[in-house]
Amino acid sequence: MSLTFDHITLGQRVLFGTGAAAANLAAEVARLGAQRVMVIASDFETEMARAVAADIDVALWHHDVVMHVPIEVADKARAAAAESGIDLLVCVGGGSTTGLAKAVGMTSRLPIIAVPTTYAGSEATNVWGLTEASRKTTGVDDAVLPVTVIYDAALTLSLPVEMSVASGLNGMAHCIDSMWGPRVDPINQALGAEGIRALSQGLPLITADPSGTDGREQALYGAYLSAVAFASAGSGIHHKICHVLGGTFNLPHAQTHATVLPYVLAFNAPAAPEAAARIAAAFGTADALTGLQDLRKRLDAPKALADYGFTADGIAKAVEIILPAVPASNPYPATTQNLTRLLQAALTGEDPAVLLSR
Ligand code: NAD
Repeated sequence: MSLTFDHITLGQRVLFGTGAAAANLAAEVARLGAQRVMVIASDFETEMARAVAADIDVALWHHDVVMHVPIEVADKARAAAAESGIDLLVCVGGGSTTGLAKAVGMTSRLPIIAVPTTYAGSEATNVWGLTEASRKTTGVDDAVLPVTVIYDAALTLSLPVEMSVASGLNGMAHCIDSMWGPRVDPINQALGAEGIRALSQGLPLITADPSGTDGREQALYGAYLSAVAFASAGSGIHHKICHVLGGTFNLPHAQTHATVLPYVLAFNAPAAPEAAARIAAAFGTADALTGLQDLRKRLDAPKALADYGFTADGIAKAVEIILPAVPASNPYPATTQNLTRLLQAALTGEDPAVLLSR
């Protein structure tokens, strides 16, 4: 096969060091010459954020963070930043907190330093998301890509095992969906494959020893790679499905990704043998779905959408919104029938292998 592609690498500084977040943040704020810093962190994340921001002057604290960034929440934060003459945004928290900083950066064009505390990966993408009238909209804007990401595995130690697993599998979903994303290329596939390897090594270490940093460092490293791969390859069918389930049905982000992923892999793998072979190699198994399912079993991963509030009467509406959003390049053409079957299986936690036979 000839090698022809068009790849963009996004420019961003990445500082990785366990226990070093406060020092790294102070150095970055000084380097950027910022005078009026706004720190965004949810109420729950505030204690961590105070420790991370211990060595900088904070002009404004903002705690009103809501998952999937409702437009009213974004507008409030935008107004607060403008009123306080903010010149740098710092977010300390999960993807929801990063998402709010991006919503402010999108309109204000202010630079962002992101200090992630989950494995969601939003910090490494130029993708924003907003929710208005129960519809989640996403878009791409380089202004929302944080100028610097500060990774500190110590900040993820408080993430409960169950949430660590779901969040880590959200990262895994970025890697796997990148393998057939609309702008897939050999570079983002390589990043995605290394992300699969790092996450599949790190997550079992977290479940075995939640208070150790080795697994958490691997998981953060994998989460970063996964997000870079995803930002480059673009949203594939998996992300289109999950964003409807999150935006319209308000299902929890990480758990939804973790649950739906094996169904999407089973849906696409037979039609994408090269991608499936790369995924299998990254897991170190003969078959991609086996690799993912073996890992999910070891991690006791989320199994059924019904456990997160989805019901059978939502399937028709979900399919209606998902179908037109599925990239035309998806390896296996999506139809009302096969998407309905996929969601039925994910609803109850049926064996994803049922989707392989068609
Ligand atoms: P989240 O940010 O909503 O966090 C989940 C919960 O975990 C929250 O209650 C939070 O306070 C808590 N939490 C965060 N860090 C913690 C820690 N270290 N210890 C204990 N608790 C902690 O969830 P998420 O999964 O990180 O992010 C989901 C959001 O991110 C969604 O809105 C999703 O759309 C968005 N996202 C966007 C992109 C992108 O590229 N734009 C990528 C991934 C996710």
